[in-house]
Amino acid sequence: MNKSVRVIVIGGGITGATVAANLSVQGQQVSLLEKQTVGGNGATKYSGALFRLFDPDPEIARLTRNSVELMETSRVGEVFAQSLRRCGILYACEKTQLNDDAISRCIAQHSDALYALERVSPQAACELSNGCYPSDNVRTLLYEPKGGVGDIRKTARDMAHLIRSYGNLVLENAHINAISSTASGVTVRCGSYVLEADYLVLAAGAWSRQLADELPIDTRSIPLASLRARRESPIPIIDTETGTHVIPLQGGYYQAGSKIRASAVDPESLRYDTGLIVPDILGRLKGSGLEHTAADVVTVLEGFDSYTADGRPVVDFIDVHKRCVAATGFCGIGYKVALAVAERVKYMLLSEEMAWNSPFSDSRHLFAAARFDAPETVQ
Ligand SMILES: Cc1cc2nc3c(=O)[nH]c(=O)nc-3n(C[C@H](O)[C@H](O)[C@H](O)COP(=O)(O)OP(=O)(O)OC[C@H]3O[C@@H](n4cnc5c(N)ncnc54)[C@H](O)[C@@H]3O)c2cc1C
Repeated sequence: MNKSVRVIVIGGGITGATVAANLSVQGQQVSLLEKQTVGGNGATKYSGALFRLFDPDPEIARLTRNSVELMETSRVGEVFAQSLRRCGILYACEKTQLNDDAISRCIAQHSDALYALERVSPQAACELSNGCYPSDNVRTLLYEPKGGVGDIRKTARDMAHLIRSYGNLVLENAHINAISSTASGVTVRCGSYVLEADYLVLAAGAWSRQLADELPIDTRSIPLASLRARRESPIPIIDTETGTHVIPLQGGYYQAGSKIRASAVDPESLRYDTGLIVPDILGRLKGSGLEHTAADVVTVLEGFDSYTADGRPVVDFIDVHKRCVAATGFCGIGYKVALAVAERVKYMLLSEEMAWNSPFSDSRHLFAAARFDAPETVQ
């Protein structure tokens, strides 16, 4: 991959910042354009940033495993890993044959010395979580000792620092007026400034459709609350049966999630009903064995992300000239897959045949924008 290209990346959330840093480290000429501040807007602004490998979707687990490997093998991964607190993470789901099988498959495929996946008993889960997980709550329980919580906003800023250290441009408060792509390259008009490049990466999260309205994504809310903890768990707990997660914050607080979702075309059109969100969060916590009242709720955070219909992102060329790659639609998992996505984008732009040319080349179609196209009707 000794090709030399100029790339413009739009969007300084975790995806765009990691993509731009990964290309910078390869010696490519990169400009990152962000309409506010890097890491300070969009899903990245609100993200809980849990890192866990297991996912009910095996393709997302594969991507996450690739992120785990990149933390060991790449410069960008090394910087990324510096703000991941590997405190361990507990995943609890309803005890069914389906869940048991999915977890067994994931352990068989991905668990090794680099990243262990361990089934634990309710008693062990109770001990690991300082009593927050009730020992009499019999579920299927998975513990990932090297999972944890990332300081995602710091990671995005560290990526910006890395980009600049290679002499590349990070432009904040950038107002993009127009984008055009031709067979020979792309042009982005930003105020009175015109930037030209060989490729464009569109990583504008839930705003991506404002720039390319054919993208099959919408915006969905992911509300969560910060609460005063009555008992502190040193590890995050994801409880899929009650549909909540608990993320320990420092100093006696934690964040917990709600399942109340609203959808809209863009973040500005989303509506949050705190009157519903707070009781929803408290009810789910109670189901997980954590009793709280509304007085414990300190803030409600109005998080959101870009979503696709099948829960997988779009990482694909979206124009006929193959000049513009979209990396969007992260459906609430964009932090843990950011490194793997950045690596895929690198392969797409730098390998001569535009193939991913990686262990993932067989799954390229799963992340293609065209997977949502209606099948042609036979006359
Ligand atoms: C509450 C919550 C909890 C989450 N928990 C987890 C988790 O536990 N684990 C996990 O892996 N993921 C989690 N996620 C998901 C993850 O945070 C997101 O998938 C990820 O942050 C998406 O990053 P992004 O860069 O694609 O988009 P964003 O972070 O939305 O970034 C898009 C950026 O593009 C910029 N932009 C938009 N339009 C323009 C324009 N015209 N010009 C220039 N810039 C533009 C925006 O200002 C923004 O900075 C969570 C998300 C939320 C909200």
